[in-house]
Amino acid sequence: MDKEQKAIERLKEAADISLSCYGKPLIIVYSGGKDSEVLLELAGRSGINFEVNHSHTTADAPQTVYHIRKVFKDLEEQGIKCGISYPKMSMWQLIIHKCFPPTRLIRYCCTSLKENNCGNRMIATGVRWSESVKRKTRGIYEDTHSNKDKRIVLMNDNDEKRRLFERCQIQAKTICNPIIDFTNDEIWDFYNNECQYKNPIYDLGFTRCGCIGCPMANKKRNWEFEIFPKYKHLYIMTFDKMLEARKAKGLEIRESWKTGNDVFDWWLQNDRR
Ligand code: SF4
Repeated sequence: MDKEQKAIERLKEAADISLSCYGKPLIIVYSGGKDSEVLLELAGRSGINFEVNHSHTTADAPQTVYHIRKVFKDLEEQGIKCGISYPKMSMWQLIIHKCFPPTRLIRYCCTSLKENNCGNRMIATGVRWSESVKRKTRGIYEDTHSNKDKRIVLMNDNDEKRRLFERCQIQAKTICNPIIDFTNDEIWDFYNNECQYKNPIYDLGFTRCGCIGCPMANKKRNWEFEIFPKYKHLYIMTFDKMLEARKAKGLEIRESWKTGNDVFDWWLQNDRR
């Protein structure tokens, strides 16, 4: 079975589990990036009943925000329910609250802005093993038990533990990652040749779609801030306020952090691979 067909089978299975365990349709998690575009396309082809949800990060490129609005309008006209989850705190409020910029190793922003939505539902995401070493530990099916040691992760389609999902013995949000085994080349190939929706952010030279200045963009962040200078200004203003918050809380401040600009330079220089 090719990967496209395999992903469709996983989506069908996840949709069945979602209906029998939660009594509600599977939710396709949609960021507007190439992986979620592929996932959305495959969900459409699979013939399942599904909903779509986007987590608004407050730091996405305007092109992505407008693209998502357009796609959702189109999907809703086809009778597909779409929802946008707004965070309790924006990226800018979160940085001041945490008193530290998000970094590659401490990405508190993703947890707060993206991962806390769609509680007690079954969701499908575009997570893939080829994206990072950390993602190699992710499974085709997963639950989100609060105790990491008790989490169930299915690494292959024939895993024996699957029956736990099918019997609805999981008491938390469950996740299916249907395109987990797609390589980068396979994703780009499918995205370029088969997907109905395309985010214009890729036409600007972006190879990933996420928050502007995301620590995961590594050295490309300098370039991102050249394209979107207003975001650079926003981060610097936020780091100014973050320094005030650190002072107010009596937290230690690095020698080199005199202004928001200094924090910004440190952030770009030190948090890179
Ligand atoms: S995409 Fe990057 S910056 Fe945005 S929430 Fe996730 S880790 Fe944070």
